[in-house]
Amino acid sequence: MMRTVLITLACMAYAGAGFRVQTEAAFQPTGVAPGRSHRATSPSMSYSGGGAWGQWLGNKGFPKAPSPAEVEAQIAARSGTVTAAAESAVQDFLEFEPYTDRSTMPDNTFKPKSPFEGKIISVERIVGPKATGETCNVVIDHFGKMPYIEGQSYGVIPPGLNPKNGKPNKVRLYSIASSRYGDDTKGTTTTLCVRRATYWCPEMEKEDPAKKGVCSNYLCDASAGDVVKLTGPTGKVMLLPEDKPETDIIMVATGTGIAPYRSFLKRMFIEKTPFAKDFKGLAWLFLGVANSDALLYDEDWKAIEKENPDNFRYDVALSREMTNKDGGKMYIQDKVEEYGDEVFDRLDKGAHIYFCGLKGMMPGIQGMLEKVAGAKGLNYEEFIKKLKKNGQWHVEVY
Ligand code: FAD
Repeated sequence: MMRTVLITLACMAYAGAGFRVQTEAAFQPTGVAPGRSHRATSPSMSYSGGGAWGQWLGNKGFPKAPSPAEVEAQIAARSGTVTAAAESAVQDFLEFEPYTDRSTMPDNTFKPKSPFEGKIISVERIVGPKATGETCNVVIDHFGKMPYIEGQSYGVIPPGLNPKNGKPNKVRLYSIASSRYGDDTKGTTTTLCVRRATYWCPEMEKEDPAKKGVCSNYLCDASAGDVVKLTGPTGKVMLLPEDKPETDIIMVATGTGIAPYRSFLKRMFIEKTPFAKDFKGLAWLFLGVANSDALLYDEDWKAIEKENPDNFRYDVALSREMTNKDGGKMYIQDKVEEYGDEVFDRLDKGAHIYFCGLKGMMPGIQGMLEKVAGAKGLNYEEFIKKLKKNGQWHVEVY
């Protein structure tokens, strides 16, 4: 009975086609901006259906790993045939409530000794030709067997041996950039946002291919159909305060630090989740990169801003194109400082603040916050201590 009521409500609320169109417009990785190339995709993996699955997604809490029969049904559905068995599988898959209950959240399901074997669906370059370095959107099929929630990370074990010790390469962590429902909205895929790590050799005055990053290059060079060894999901630092939907969410990212916020923003504004319905705060994204070609998912943020002017703000810091108030390069801390007063006021009222991206961003950020606190007559140490104690302070830098 309960399930019938929920199905009916879901169908009334989401009216299929509208949901799909909105999802695709804002997040489909196949929509590459002009000048941004398409590295590898698997046409056979693309899903054009909407229907009951799309309507169901987001109505319940944490997904659990489905049974093999359910996985079969999900794969069948991906090929475009949504069978009754597949629909029923998804209903069971999402049978959790209330959505704020974290007692069943996935945590380290797959460990390095027995990793899960996912399959690459697509890898595409998502930065323009003048970007400093390359960043790729990597979509992986986990067949519904490796569920996660927004703010968690996957581990990737690159193939091969470490030449330094002859042992198998070790796991590297990547923040998950899709919501729990994946970009296919079926709960069977995971998206990563990976920057290709290269080594600039000062003597050679060019990149030294022998010293390039192992795992990031492996992922950026992967092809559709490649098997990829995964661990996790892990991470409890970057979770959303879903039990307090009135809370302001301030997100500060440098480069690929955008990944967890992409998962948040899909959940808050793109998918018709119960949290999206309840959310009454302000989501405020600060993104710092070198230049406009290096912006990540920029069109998506602009689309969300247009649709949700009262609940979403988006500010960028382009260090090589913009200047700060002192005429220097505009770094992420300079952009946040422009709104320092308001950020502090919102934090004082309970906002959560998140920092993700390069480790090097934190000293500048902390220095800036200390300066703003001083100007407001606040004791910086005490203020931050209070934020940490209240769980309002979230940092994941690497
Ligand atoms: P490694 O092979 O581990 O090399 C590291 C660096 O050393 C590279 O820059 C490489 O060029 C350089 N190097 C290699 N050999 C030499 C040498 N002989 N001398 C000098 N330098 C050398 N990254 C992302 O892109 N996206 C994410 O979303 C993301 N999320 C993360 C989340 C967490 C929680 C953490 C901890 C890290 C995250 N990372 C993320 C970073 C990621 O885990 C890897 O550290 C990164 O991709 C580099 O790994 P790699 O295997 O490519 O480089």
